[in-house]
Amino acid sequence: MGGTFDPIHHGHLVTAEAALWRFTLDEVMFLPTGSPWMKGDRPVSGPEDRYLMTVIATASNPRFSVSRLEIDRPGPTYTVETLQELRRQAEGDIDLFFITGADAMLEILEWKDPHEVLAQAHFIAATRPGYDLARFQERAPSSHPNVSVMDIPALAISSTDIRRRVAAGEPIRYLVPEGVHTYIEKAGLYRSEP
Ligand code: ATP
Ligand code: MG
Repeated sequence: MGGTFDPIHHGHLVTAEAALWRFTLDEVMFLPTGSPWMKGDRPVSGPEDRYLMTVIATASNPRFSVSRLEIDRPGPTYTVETLQELRRQAEGDIDLFFITGADAMLEILEWKDPHEVLAQAHFIAATRPGYDLARFQERAPSSHPNVSVMDIPALAISSTDIRRRVAAGEPIRYLVPEGVHTYIEKAGLYRSEP
């Protein structure tokens, strides 16, 4: 499961656990993205803060792990390269799944050559409030056989909203794991809006 994880929240964790169960996966590996110093026009927190928060959030689940693959690779993050690298590192034959939310899946399908990345893994697209995956299903159910839609309990939680809340002094408790909440306070993240 790739993501900026700035910060990781319960929407990410519920999605990962649902995929684990629904597709009987052995494990879910979280891959914080390398340094997109800017995401659109906003600054992104440093990779070590995002990595540590992801470790804290996933530590209690024996089937969750966190990879430094993308944050340790210089240059921009390309999902195709990441999937190829994971296959190279694996011992023997493995089935790779890439877990995304509906918004990220719709973005991937809009990339220039989605077929190359779709050939590398089976994509799991989780429903997310505000994004219409049904539209995608109607449009292209058979031309993308490597994409499955997964229904999860709707969680209208986003990192964008969490950052806004911290800057505005609103509570984020119970939107993120307790340890992540503590880390955000201790490191002084998101206190001022960009
Ligand atoms: P931002 O608001 O900064 O974009 P985000 O909440 O979308 O943050 P990302 O790190 O961008 O989090 O997302 C990583 C992956 O998790 C993406 O595939 C995204 O679609 C998915 N995801 C994030 N939040 C949810 C949620 N509430 N429900 C389902 N999927 C989610
Ligand atoms: Mg996002």
